[in-house]
Amino acid sequence: MRVVYSDQYDLNLGNHVFPSVKYRLTKEKLLRDQVVSQQDLAEPPAASDEDVALVHHREYIRKLQAGKLSYVEILRLEIPYSPELVRAVWLSAGGSILAGRLALADGTAANIGGGFHHAYPDHGEGFCVLNDFAIGIRRLQKDRVIARAMTVDCDVHQGNGTAAIFSGDHSVYTLSIHQEHNYPYPKPPSSLDINLRDGVEDEEYLRELQNGIERALSEFTPELIYYVAGADPYRDDQLGGLKLSIDGLERRDRLVFEMARAKNIPVAVTLAGGYARRVEDTVLIHCNTIRVAQEFAK
Ligand SMILES: [Zn+2]
Repeated sequence: MRVVYSDQYDLNLGNHVFPSVKYRLTKEKLLRDQVVSQQDLAEPPAASDEDVALVHHREYIRKLQAGKLSYVEILRLEIPYSPELVRAVWLSAGGSILAGRLALADGTAANIGGGFHHAYPDHGEGFCVLNDFAIGIRRLQKDRVIARAMTVDCDVHQGNGTAAIFSGDHSVYTLSIHQEHNYPYPKPPSSLDINLRDGVEDEEYLRELQNGIERALSEFTPELIYYVAGADPYRDDQLGGLKLSIDGLERRDRLVFEMARAKNIPVAVTLAGGYARRVEDTVLIHCNTIRVAQEFAK
């Protein structure tokens, strides 16, 4: 399986709760554990401005590139603005486009980055600047390699930006399973939202997810799934209130790939959130996702 990664995904945010060092640590662990080899790694080209404009407003793109976001817009991002941030998110979007293409070729692929599901067409929020996998879907649709896509968003936070982007679009089905009483507020409706109460553990989560994917795949037949594999439903996450174990999260991954494989649907992984007290846990959860994805590659 090919795995998309760039050293420039790391924003060097230091002690920020968003551990962008996790991208490099995940890549290093995957190589160390021989889950992937150096030859499996693909360096992404940055998305073009035309690609980004398939999802985001021109005015927002211009402000990002010119460093003209307002104070309030930067506050809403909750990460510091820098030219390096702009570079990183354009690369992450390019990475998710590429991962989508590779998944169509190989059955599965992963971007060791992206999953920025809180980014809306006209603004970013919650650590998300550009909605990389929405850009991936739009670009692959534009190239006519797919017509219909599904997002399966298992980050602990609801995929508000994705829901807003694809609202009323019958070519994209958005599924989000998340903790109800957590950011974001409000939650624009996805095609299917599974609102979990606080403290849900492995078995209940897996049952809800299985029912949700079954329903989604009975209502809609995608040619590609973007799997938003957030590590933050983990019980030791600082920004999440669910109680999944590391083992439960791996079973979650396996469930997603098994259900997709049963219908022969390619899956592209993006990482999304992960704020475990120990960054090693976040990295382990992400590595497990990619190891399981690998088992389902052709
Ligand atoms: Zn999250």
